[in-house]
Amino acid sequence: MNYGYLAYPDIPEDAVHVLPLGAVEPHGPHAPLVTDTLISLGICHRAAERLEGEIPVLVLPPVHYGVTRYADAFPGTVSISEDTLRSLVTEIADSVGTLVLVNSHFEPEQVETLRSTGLPLLDLTRRAYAERLTEEFRSGSCHAGRYETSLVLADRPELVHADRLSTLEERHVDMPAAIDAGQTDFIAMGMEQAYCGAPAEATADEGRETFETLTDMLVELIREVAP
Ligand SMILES: [Zn+2]
Repeated sequence: MNYGYLAYPDIPEDAVHVLPLGAVEPHGPHAPLVTDTLISLGICHRAAERLEGEIPVLVLPPVHYGVTRYADAFPGTVSISEDTLRSLVTEIADSVGTLVLVNSHFEPEQVETLRSTGLPLLDLTRRAYAERLTEEFRSGSCHAGRYETSLVLADRPELVHADRLSTLEERHVDMPAAIDAGQTDFIAMGMEQAYCGAPAEATADEGRETFETLTDMLVELIREVAP
């Protein structure tokens, strides 16, 4: 299941490969820089487990780096260009058989770049997926808020600063609307601490529940593309 941990004779034929994608960028004062990658990994591992005995699913080592510029004003942002991301993803695709991209970093340039590869993509910004997710996610106020923080609490609670979390006030920012209005950095959007939404309301239980929904979506997509 964990591609990188296999020895080569153990790689199954006709497997579906899933590539977890994220970003290295600030996620509030409370959550880890690689929050998005951790979320993608959580979805991939659950889907692989769910499909055991039906479809062999191999989780590739993740691509932690993404196109991430909105958080430039904060320490902790490490961005790559659209061209680099496209090359990386398409060259990985050339090396393996069937590949599905699983992305949890929603900066438009990241999403557009992944779409442009033409590869199967779990694209949570699509309405059909988004409407199955939580209210906060659908509100567009979903950077390091309740939605993302709950997911990290479900899998890696030791990486969340609980003491800081409890002090964070809800901050509603409709990110898609702000981006449409030409705002392309967190500060201009009103995210002085690199988060929006309500991280203090996050719970591991909500995270586990959301992971189940996200896993349903990926399982459906894998069944569609499986050889
Ligand atoms: Zn994120």
